[in-house]
Amino acid sequence: MLFSCPTCGSALRPGSLRPRAGTAVCAEHGEVRPHVGHPAVSDAQVVDRSRDWASRWSLDGESYRFELAPLAPLRAWCAPLPWQGDVATGEWVGLLLAAPLYALTYIPVLVPARIAIGPRRVRVGPRWLGIGDGGEFAVVETGRQSSELTLVRDVDVPVLVCSRPAASIFPLRDVLNEALFIVQRQSPLPPAASIYRG
Ligand SMILES: [Zn+2]
Repeated sequence: MLFSCPTCGSALRPGSLRPRAGTAVCAEHGEVRPHVGHPAVSDAQVVDRSRDWASRWSLDGESYRFELAPLAPLRAWCAPLPWQGDVATGEWVGLLLAAPLYALTYIPVLVPARIAIGPRRVRVGPRWLGIGDGGEFAVVETGRQSSELTLVRDVDVPVLVCSRPAASIFPLRDVLNEALFIVQRQSPLPPAASIYRG
């Protein structure tokens, strides 16, 4: 049990986590600051066949690190790079400069959509994103069979594009928010002698 209510001790659903606020929702006690447990650190990637991804917890110095790779059935790939829209001005110089960048639009499909969460940064495929004081993954429905995973900071940054309905990536969002919460709240690790070390 990674998240529990500090008052009644009951397990808190990952979907109820609010990493930005550092809280979760207990059915009985409403919004609470949860007790956060420690994940099992492993050298190998763990593929849970009931889920659409492979994932791994590891230690990076005194910090936790979480890595996740979506598997083929999820049909998710890296979102286009964020600066492409700014470069295309419509003027010929702009178009000339933008042409190679447009080509890059199609490259994310070829880049494995691996996500790595460290205490200060999230890496998605080739992109590094700072998470600062807080961040949170969210799902945006973009069509009946398409959705996006975004990282909510000051503004929403699309990180993954998925050609499946939004509901199919809710579990992915939940596991990433769970990881973000743990990495940010438990890094650096408590001292070895601490009862919070787990
Ligand atoms: Zn409770």
